[in-house]
Amino acid sequence: MFEPMIDADSRPYWDGIARGELLLQHCLSCARTIFYPRALCPLCFSTELEWRTASGSGTVYSYTVMRKAFGRFATDPPTVLALVDLDEGVRMMTHLVGLDPSDARIGARVEVTVKSVEEDLSLPCFTPVP
Ligand SMILES: [Zn+2]
Repeated sequence: MFEPMIDADSRPYWDGIARGELLLQHCLSCARTIFYPRALCPLCFSTELEWRTASGSGTVYSYTVMRKAFGRFATDPPTVLALVDLDEGVRMMTHLVGLDPSDARIGARVEVTVKSVEEDLSLPCFTPVP
């Protein structure tokens, strides 16, 4: 999995994840939702950004099954790396968990679940909606 970059702009996001809550920035100027966290709206360059709790629901846009473990957060392979389109209109790279990798499907509805990977770090993952 990617290495999280925790800085002043993304700190509220990571603090939310630690509480089990997925937060997304919302631009008060152009009313768009933004991901990944940053200081300026990438669409209108406004700094008027507000943190809002996301629905936590999304749809699998694409995925791949990784059969070898690598990186800092390597777990028992196979693991499912996915792009998920959140209902708020942004796309995030994540892991699908709680399913057999052969059951992963493009277009499947998923919901966020927070996975603790290290003592002081949790990551948002997604699991199929039952
Ligand atoms: Zn904007």
